[in-house]
Amino acid sequence: MNNRRKIAAGNWKMNGLRQALSEVEALHAANPNPNCEVVICPPATLIRSMAKICGEMEINVGGQDCHENNAGAHTGDISAEMLADTGATHVITGHSERREAYAETDALVRSKSQSAWAAGLVAIVCIGESLAHRKAKDTLEIVGAQLSGSIPDGATGENLVVAYEPIWAIGSGLTPTLDEISEVHDFIRAQLISRFGEATGNAVRILYGGSMKPDNATEIGALANVDGGLVGGASLKAADFSRIVAAL
Ligand code: PEP
Repeated sequence: MNNRRKIAAGNWKMNGLRQALSEVEALHAANPNPNCEVVICPPATLIRSMAKICGEMEINVGGQDCHENNAGAHTGDISAEMLADTGATHVITGHSERREAYAETDALVRSKSQSAWAAGLVAIVCIGESLAHRKAKDTLEIVGAQLSGSIPDGATGENLVVAYEPIWAIGSGLTPTLDEISEVHDFIRAQLISRFGEATGNAVRILYGGSMKPDNATEIGALANVDGGLVGGASLKAADFSRIVAAL
C-alpha cells in the first residue's frame, strides 16, 4: 500500500461543444469517489467555461497540449501560460496522437513539459510503445528512452504525472494483460527512482491509458504501480467516467 492518491484523467480529444459541459455537472452530482482526483482535459475552446463551473467542484481542468514557448509567432498554438491563465491546472504532453501527427520528438515533449512547469501546471507526460515494438519485445527499451527523453530535470510528485499508454491499446478496445501492464509500470517506477531518488520516484503518479473502461478499471487500478488512468473515449460520458472514477 502506498499513499499516492489515485487520478482519473479524461482526455476528450477533439470532442465536445458547450452542451458537453453538462457531463461535468453530472459527474460532480454523481460524486463517485472523493478519494480519487479527477482531471478533465477538454478541447481548448471549453477550458475557460469548464474551469468556471469546476471551481466549486473538486475537478481539475487541463489542456491537451501546449507550445514550448510562452508567446510569439506560432499561429494556432497555445502556450502553457495561456492555459494556466484560462483556469487549467494540468496539461497533457507527448500524447501519441501528437507524437505521430505532428512528429513530436522526446526533446520537444521535454521542452513542453518544462514550459508547463514554468507556468505552474502539472505535466501529464505520455509514453508508450507501438504494436510493432511490442511484438519485437522492445517495449521496455522504447518506454525507457521516451521516459528519460521526455521528462525534464526537476520532476516532483506534484508537478509530474506519467501516463503509460501503449499506442495499440488507444481507442482499439485492446488492452495489455495485467502482467504486461505491471511489468511496464514497475519498470517506470524503478526508472523514476533511479533518476529522481527514492522519495520523488515513489511520489510521482503513473497512470495507465488505453481502452480503460468501467469493466476493466478495477483490476487495472489495483496493480501496485498503477495510480489511475488516462481515459479517452470512456471519459466523454459522465455515466461511464463516474464508474471508472468509482472503480479507481
Ligand atoms: C487516450 O487517448 O489517451 C486514450 C487512453 O484513449 P482511449 O481510452 O479511448 O483508448
